Amino acid sequence: MNPKDIADQQFDLAADHLDLDPSIRRFLKSPKNVIKVSLPVRMDDGSVQVFKGIRAQYNDALGPFKGGIRYHPAVTEDEVTALAAWMTWKCAVVDVPYGGGKGGVVCDTKELSIGEKERLTRRYTSAIAPHIGPSKDIPGPDMYTDAQTMAWIMDTYSQIKGERSLGVVTGKPVEVGGSHARSEATGRGVLVVAHEAFLAQGMDTEDVTIAIQGFGNVGSNVARLAEEIFQSARVVAISDVTGGVYNEDGLDHEELSAYVAENGGVAGFPEAKAVTNDELLTLDVDLLIPAAVESVITEENADEVQASIIVEAANGPTSPKADEILHEKGIPVIPDILANAGGVTVSYFEWVQGLYAFQWDEGEVRYMLERRMKRAFHAVHDIAEEEELPYRTAAYVLAVDRVSKAVDLLGIWP
Ligand code: NAD
Repeated sequence: MNPKDIADQQFDLAADHLDLDPSIRRFLKSPKNVIKVSLPVRMDDGSVQVFKGIRAQYNDALGPFKGGIRYHPAVTEDEVTALAAWMTWKCAVVDVPYGGGKGGVVCDTKELSIGEKERLTRRYTSAIAPHIGPSKDIPGPDMYTDAQTMAWIMDTYSQIKGERSLGVVTGKPVEVGGSHARSEATGRGVLVVAHEAFLAQGMDTEDVTIAIQGFGNVGSNVARLAEEIFQSARVVAISDVTGGVYNEDGLDHEELSAYVAENGGVAGFPEAKAVTNDELLTLDVDLLIPAAVESVITEENADEVQASIIVEAANGPTSPKADEILHEKGIPVIPDILANAGGVTVSYFEWVQGLYAFQWDEGEVRYMLERRMKRAFHAVHDIAEEEELPYRTAAYVLAVDRVSKAVDLLGIWP
């Protein structure tokens, strides 16, 4: 299914529930701007290649556009626009003063040298420079872009403006204005929301068993922090692109990380049974956390899911049809726009720190993140209870209501 169609479908459910004015509904279904740029880049062999770049700016009623930049061969305008729409709702759910945006460059970073990646990043930045800025549009990292990429973006933008601009981008290295605890923020936020969901559902928070799909930035931080947030939790299964491993007594995070560093993936980790990525999703565990790619829980396997609750760390891991099946089975799904919003929340802290040339320490950032994630969970939970809605629709109702009220207050000019 086209990602923009999925985004529209999820929006429509909430808009119907809110009985949204048809004019505002039309307004919120279209991006404000989609900027397309052509990027000539000098390659190491002296030739020039031309890459395609996109920046979608979906809605800025609540604040400047905010969203990551993705480098991937499969980047399309529809995908980037759908991701920008999701960012709009995500920022609204956690109540950070941002709209939604997303960027993408069609490229395969595995085929680029570091120098080529830097030149591509700087050219893309210069091409979108008139459209971004600390009070306009603030990019951040996404697939195949990282803190180094963000440092290049800040530097290029600052050179163009003739002044240091710490607020133009988030996800920077800590040495040049990044926030402490940014890299673990999404994983920590996922667990904080999961813990609140267990309490709200009246579920036992002791001896919780967890299966995680994905062992990248988010998945590995979830695995590392599980015992801190859930005291006696056991991460029994983890998978990545190489396959999956299962041990009912729990997988040791440090040993697994060392094994992955040496072997490039979790497959073959000793002291564990092999499981496939598909098998991991249907294990009999208390908590299932998809933290890898989209569309992994579908109408094909949703009926076999045995977890007591699903918390979406990845963006879009559950298809709309699977949502219906899981709802009928009574398995709550804590949606991506709530569960993985810890990253953008700490990005917001980073932006504020940049604007004020200030720095909070790790403890302060964690405390503020946890408070905001809990507040967002309870706002969604209250709507879900009062209106008898699944968590996803409740989260969209909260977000669409906040954004549509802002649109209404600002009015349409002229
Ligand atoms: P990452 O690139 O660091 O890690 C991705 C992991 O998924 C890797 O372990 C990889 O091996 C695994 N993987 C890739 N393809 C797979 C497949 N087909 N089957 C099973 N595993 C596969 O990415 P990340 O930053 O950890 O992001 C993971 C998810 O979380 C993505 O959906 C991303 O959009 C979402 N997310 C990330 C952040 C963040 O702050 N990093 C914030 C919000 C949402």
